[in-house]
Amino acid sequence: MVYALDPRIHRVWRSPSTLQFGVDTAVLTLDDLSNADERMLVALDAGVTMSGLQMVARRARAGAGAPARLLERLAPVLAPQPEPEPECERPVVVIDGAGQTAARLIEALGEAGVDARSGLTWDDPAVDTAAAAVVVGSFAVEPERHRRWLRRDVPHLAIVFGDERVRVGPFVDPGAGPCLGCVDLRLTDADPAWPAMATQLYTRDARRETPLVAAAASGVAGFAVLDRLRGGRALSRSSVAVDYVTGAREETDWAAHPGCGCLGLPADPA
Ligand SMILES: [Zn+2]
Repeated sequence: MVYALDPRIHRVWRSPSTLQFGVDTAVLTLDDLSNADERMLVALDAGVTMSGLQMVARRARAGAGAPARLLERLAPVLAPQPEPEPECERPVVVIDGAGQTAARLIEALGEAGVDARSGLTWDDPAVDTAAAAVVVGSFAVEPERHRRWLRRDVPHLAIVFGDERVRVGPFVDPGAGPCLGCVDLRLTDADPAWPAMATQLYTRDARRETPLVAAAASGVAGFAVLDRLRGGRALSRSSVAVDYVTGAREETDWAAHPGCGCLGLPADPA
């Protein structure tokens, strides 16, 4: 077994003999560090076995129990032991759509250990078993497109490019929160002409996907997907719109629409 300090936790000296782990939050503070402790910390920085650590301690004339005592103090900041995971256990996220944002999202999720795939057909087995999907569209997402994810019970996040901003969200939790049909009904409540306009826009490309816009949209979406895979519910009842010119972000809350029926609610007779 190799012991090593967690490389993600930064170390900073508070004084010549006091070492703090973590900057924004002090995870651990070690006082009165001896010369032997410092040498063992150097070894632990690179990773070292117990016998290697004992050798470092002996050379620094520390007692035989010094390595174990130091490791006990360092427990909160040691790197977790790597557990080899079989390839098939990586969660699959399907990107339903193309473009710069989709490409960046696939790359970012891949680096985070997610098996993100795009270009799949509806009969691909991964479509039915995906842990989540991301639906990328312009102006509005065609009902038949998002209903396919709803029917498969796959949580799906919408990224919709408009002509002034890109909207990321909501992250539809089938049967438990507002769906993209609910969003369309809310937009119709605000503007009765929305359904007529939406049908003209389903296949139109907003053409506003610059590298900066793609970076911002894929960033918001990537964090939401990773949160979902950890069991979180980020954006499940809200969306974040990023302005193309200013980059300003605006959050909107969404509620299920009684006329949609996606939650098994009675249809609004009005
Ligand atoms: Zn709905």
